[in-house]
Amino acid sequence: MFEQHLHKLATRHLSRRLQTLHSATGPVVDLDGRRVLLLASNDYLGLATHPDVVQAAVRATQQFGAGSGAARLISGTLPPHQDLELALAQFKRTSAALTFGSGYLANLGTIPTLIGRGGLVLADRLSHASLLDGCKLSGADLRVYRHGDVEHLQSLLARRARGRRTLIVTDGLFSMDGDLAPLPDLAELAQRYEADLYVDDAHGTGVMGATGRGTLEHFGLESCIPFHMGTLGKALGSSGAYVAGPATLIDYLVNTSRAFIFTTAPPPASAAAAVAALRVLQREPERRNRLWANRKRLAAGLKDLGFRLTDSVSPIMPILVGDAEKAVAFAEQLLAEGVYAPAIRPPTVPESTSRIRVTITSEHTLAHIEQSLGAFERAGKTAHLL
Ligand code: PMP
Repeated sequence: MFEQHLHKLATRHLSRRLQTLHSATGPVVDLDGRRVLLLASNDYLGLATHPDVVQAAVRATQQFGAGSGAARLISGTLPPHQDLELALAQFKRTSAALTFGSGYLANLGTIPTLIGRGGLVLADRLSHASLLDGCKLSGADLRVYRHGDVEHLQSLLARRARGRRTLIVTDGLFSMDGDLAPLPDLAELAQRYEADLYVDDAHGTGVMGATGRGTLEHFGLESCIPFHMGTLGKALGSSGAYVAGPATLIDYLVNTSRAFIFTTAPPPASAAAAVAALRVLQREPERRNRLWANRKRLAAGLKDLGFRLTDSVSPIMPILVGDAEKAVAFAEQLLAEGVYAPAIRPPTVPESTSRIRVTITSEHTLAHIEQSLGAFERAGKTAHLL
């Protein structure tokens, strides 16, 4: 049965296999003994290898051990966890924050505490898998609205039974398209129809907004959207996730969120690393400036070459290919040209929208960008995309 399933995936060019990097993540990595340009990482600001961030992880490990030893509510809460939650609340300008082992767990653990059987969840069609899984786990009815389509969402809100508990769910910055959710409209609709709005700011945190506080800062909505979720494993260079919001909500999550309660606390190293990353993020705004300058250069270069891109406004700049087989062939050509950016295929993205999800970081140099554009041009021609 397993073999049959795997065979079916292979015939549709949807097999996946693990690829090991033999160096730390960064603009250039070691792949099977070859130095290649990495254009696929979410370490947007290079913080995963920042000396302060690494040092903080080492020190926390020396002081508090490699593992936390228990769930947070048993004996697993250590000073780095508390420091991180305080630092996150301060950074996000909320009264409190709660951390989870990962973004996947945060979504699985939070959405079912906000809504349950009898309720209605309205989710953007391109919401991250962990959001949709959290919605399914909640037992509420799940309806999907067309990507970014405020009118469609409104028509679903207008049609629902009066007074029915409703939650609107969306990525802030979409992980596979790099575009933004229309958050001002969503916040307005949520208020008008007395629904809650749950924003996953995994890719916005550290990247969007004048000071990197995320998509809520970008849109000037921090005072209108009382809580949201984000991750620590992307621009913050560590791992884990958080919900930031009012103290009562955080206390409620501590008491009811199963993915928080029934799991071992994250290692002290990752919490301490995230605290250090938050400090660097605020202290070194030049990282964000470099990121945006790089993004501008690479996006313009890819457009000039004639690739079909999504409506991205962010460091995530997918090149649309369509067919899974073609996307895999293009990724292989890119790798032959010294660029590692794997093909993203269904079910991660909808059928016929396979792509190369190109991401850029603050740590890429002008030379890296020029080198990658050369590689994209040659690979694009070989793969008949140009
Ligand atoms: N939400 C979004 C939008 C994501 O892109 C991701 C990671 N791919 C997650 C949640 C899950 O976060 P984590 O990797 O920390 O589990």
